[in-house]
Amino acid sequence: MATASELARQRRSLQGRVGVVTASTNGIGFAMAQRLAVDGAHVVISSRNQKNVDEALAKLKSEGLSVSEMVCHAGGKEDRTRLLEKTAAEFGGFDILISNAAVNPGSGRLMKCTEEVWDKIFDVNVKSSFFLAKKPLPHMEKRGKASIMFVSSVAGYLQNCAVEFFGAYALSKTALLGLSKLMSMELGPRGIRVNCIFPGVIETRFGAVITGDKRVPKIMHDNCPLQRNTRETKESTYRLLY
Ligand code: NAP
Repeated sequence: MATASELARQRRSLQGRVGVVTASTNGIGFAMAQRLAVDGAHVVISSRNQKNVDEALAKLKSEGLSVSEMVCHAGGKEDRTRLLEKTAAEFGGFDILISNAAVNPGSGRLMKCTEEVWDKIFDVNVKSSFFLAKKPLPHMEKRGKASIMFVSSVAGYLQNCAVEFFGAYALSKTALLGLSKLMSMELGPRGIRVNCIFPGVIETRFGAVITGDKRVPKIMHDNCPLQRNTRETKESTYRLLY
């Protein structure tokens, strides 16, 4: 079987491109960073914890991929600025920005959401995503062809599944669709594409609130308009979510 670096050599579809992915030392962000690098881009990975950053970097480098790193708490303005400015200075701009960081501090049902939790969720998931994407526009425009991607969630669209666990978090993920639509209209004519993806349930540390909860199959059943999903298997639980 071809190794990651061999695949990278064969494809090279992103050769010469530079990508920045936030929250990319684990889970979905790590996988996206890895894939961009496998496709030939140089990727700057980041997250809050230096140890996580070092471990992820070592893993990607051991696969022969072109990567560098920086610690960045996506909710911190100074961290975001450092990540973007240092990357732009080193590479003369960049082409790909993936805003992947999100928090869900036990938001639970929407009606139980406190103002403090609301602020935390909207600060990281929506406000930080917007300003992360807005700040580097001059650097991205210079490259002629650039791409911004927001990571939303199926929870933002299938609220019947989100109701028990993801109240305000789900709402923040719905907001990212509106953000993507508006930004794509403004930035398309400037040569920058804006997209939003909506992962289903993925087995990660973040996803464990769903994947690790034995009540989920019944909750999914009760919240499904067709009252389906009676089999209490992981597979049937996830199928309902899609
Ligand atoms: P994960 O596996 O738990 O990984 C989270 C990553 O984000 C880690 O690298 C973590 O590293 C970093 N991180 C956390 N908070 C951060 C912050 N404030 N600033 C910078 N980095 C931060 O999570 P995941 O499941 O891949 O989730 C990634 C994205 O996918 C999120 O936007 C989430 O809403 C979305 N999503 C997930 C699922 C799912 O089922 N898993 C479904 C739909 C959407 P540090 O601890 O070192 O910061």
